[in-house]
Amino acid sequence: MSGELQSQHHWQGVLDSALDAVGHTPLIKLQKIARAEGLKCNLMGKCEFFSAGGSVKDRIAKRMVEEAEKEGRLIPGESIVIEPTSGNTGIGLALACAIKGYKCIITLPAKMSLEKEVMLRSLGAEIVRTPTEAAWDSDESHIGIAKKLQKSIKGGIILDQYSNPNNPLAHYYGTYEEITYALRTSDLPRKDISLLVAGAGTGGTITGIARAIRNYESKLVNGDAASHGRTIVLAVDPEGSILGGGEPGNYEVEGIGYDFFPEVLDPKPPVVDKWIKTDDEEAFAATKRLIREEGLFVGGSSGSALSGALRFLKSEDGKSIAADPNANVVVILPDGVRNYISKPWFLETSKRPVNEDIDEKEDLHSTIK
Ligand code: PMP
Repeated sequence: MSGELQSQHHWQGVLDSALDAVGHTPLIKLQKIARAEGLKCNLMGKCEFFSAGGSVKDRIAKRMVEEAEKEGRLIPGESIVIEPTSGNTGIGLALACAIKGYKCIITLPAKMSLEKEVMLRSLGAEIVRTPTEAAWDSDESHIGIAKKLQKSIKGGIILDQYSNPNNPLAHYYGTYEEITYALRTSDLPRKDISLLVAGAGTGGTITGIARAIRNYESKLVNGDAASHGRTIVLAVDPEGSILGGGEPGNYEVEGIGYDFFPEVLDPKPPVVDKWIKTDDEEAFAATKRLIREEGLFVGGSSGSALSGALRFLKSEDGKSIAADPNANVVVILPDGVRNYISKPWFLETSKRPVNEDIDEKEDLHSTIK
């Protein structure tokens, strides 16, 4: 499959490789959560864990590799892909490199889960762990170490998700097209997006989707413009990240927030309208709700995005969207919980009774015997 608009279509026929199974993710109603929260709007999640490598970052990995090949910057048999990442871009890159036959080295902050490391190793990537607390521009950070490796390794190339225009473009053409295709072909009363909610790491996801929305809005005329209200773009940022304001600090959620502004992030209107801060506790609680109530095996940053969306919809600014049965709210759910099974915040779920209605004191097994 080729061309910018490939993502509009569902699978047809037989795919050439797992790279053709990158993206093409479903947009799924979060009906039980919406009902429980008293929301009248259509609350939906774009479920990126369905992608081949398990996250939203597969899209940029595929695009960065293929564009670098076209430009002659990646040469089979010669180039070695090196990338600093919180893990998911690494998995996407290692997947592409495994299929295409490139060597791959990933620098990964210590806090990122063991599951991501194991996945990377299974794809043949080499891993270098770096101190989580290292400032982004220090020699020891995942970015600093990647740069050092590139200088010392012949054929080493950093595709650099923080500055590579193909990062936001993968969402401008892919993620955005899929969302609008899903809405257009749905039975929902309106086909436009009233509110888009996404967390920001590099910012590629939110910047790419938002730019495509603004491009579409700029072309609307008269009647169309009236029936398509301006989309509110809401960025969600963890406490401890500076992107949405505040001081740098520690937090558990992986993949979102930074102590610097990546070049690919366009954080201001008209692209991003508003930032909202979330903390680990509400993010992990919301992640567990998405799993328990909606059956969606999402990871921690999906909970951040959902909790930010719910807080906005309950605020003065979001009230009218929340009360509008025709309004469409799209929340980007970036990866899956299988990346985090060993993390204490998720493991503790397994200690609770499966059915919370059942009295914890009752021993289910002795009852069954
Ligand atoms: N959630 C997770 C789990 C991620 O790995 C990432 C990528 N760092 C994001 C959210 C944010 O995506 P982006 O880099 O496009 O802002």
